[in-house]
Amino acid sequence: MSDDMMIGTRIQEVRAAIEAARTRRTHVPAETPVELIAVTKNHPVEAMQAAIDAGIMNIGENRVQEALDKAQTLGRAVKWHLIGHLQTNKVKHAVRQFDLIHSVDSLRLAREIDKAAEKLGKVQNILVQVNLAREESKSGVYREDLDEILAVIDELPSIRLQGFMCIAPNYEDVEECRPLFRAMYELFQQVKAHAPHTADIRYLSMGMTHDYEIAVEEGANLVRVGTAIFGARQYALGV
Ligand SMILES: *Cc1c(COP(=O)(O)O)cnc(C)c1O
Repeated sequence: MSDDMMIGTRIQEVRAAIEAARTRRTHVPAETPVELIAVTKNHPVEAMQAAIDAGIMNIGENRVQEALDKAQTLGRAVKWHLIGHLQTNKVKHAVRQFDLIHSVDSLRLAREIDKAAEKLGKVQNILVQVNLAREESKSGVYREDLDEILAVIDELPSIRLQGFMCIAPNYEDVEECRPLFRAMYELFQQVKAHAPHTADIRYLSMGMTHDYEIAVEEGANLVRVGTAIFGARQYALGV
């Protein structure tokens, strides 16, 4: 099988696994649909094009420059998601390129995005990354700081909060992610219920190759899958 066909086949497998996980839901309405983001960092544009040809409509990248380079070839027919940490000096470019920024993790960053979006005459859709597991190695807002950042975001005219993103710790037994995903879903529901009508809370971005099925069972409606679609990343290529 060619590499391109392989990518198409794997996408079908991931989609089938997502649908199966959706029907296993116990705490979450099964009918809530799930969108698949193909995470393409460190993969070449040829692989991305194969994924797009196989029906992928959402692309996830974690570095701004890499996305800008690839977008020159691929254009904007797909939705671009920034899933990696965003440095304030890259905000201007990020706002130009990305439809949804998943990784807002500080007040300062939220304010910078708002300023850049205003200059572009754009309202930037964002998710706040929550570090519910309190891992020091990861970015994301701690639970006790969340209310303040949400209140500030609500006052910023050129960013629109659309939900939350989280990354689960890399547990040896993937089942250990479940309570965290469940707590994230509860938080998502709570904020949605109390959000001002200017907000548009709709996305809960959680789940990667090793844990997306559990994430979907627990209420994720955006999953970010790289390895299961494209295989291992080739960091040596330096793309
Ligand atoms: C790389 C990455 C993913 C995809 O990881 P895989 O294990 O390859 O599926 C998802 N989310 C974030 C934030 C990432 O950086």
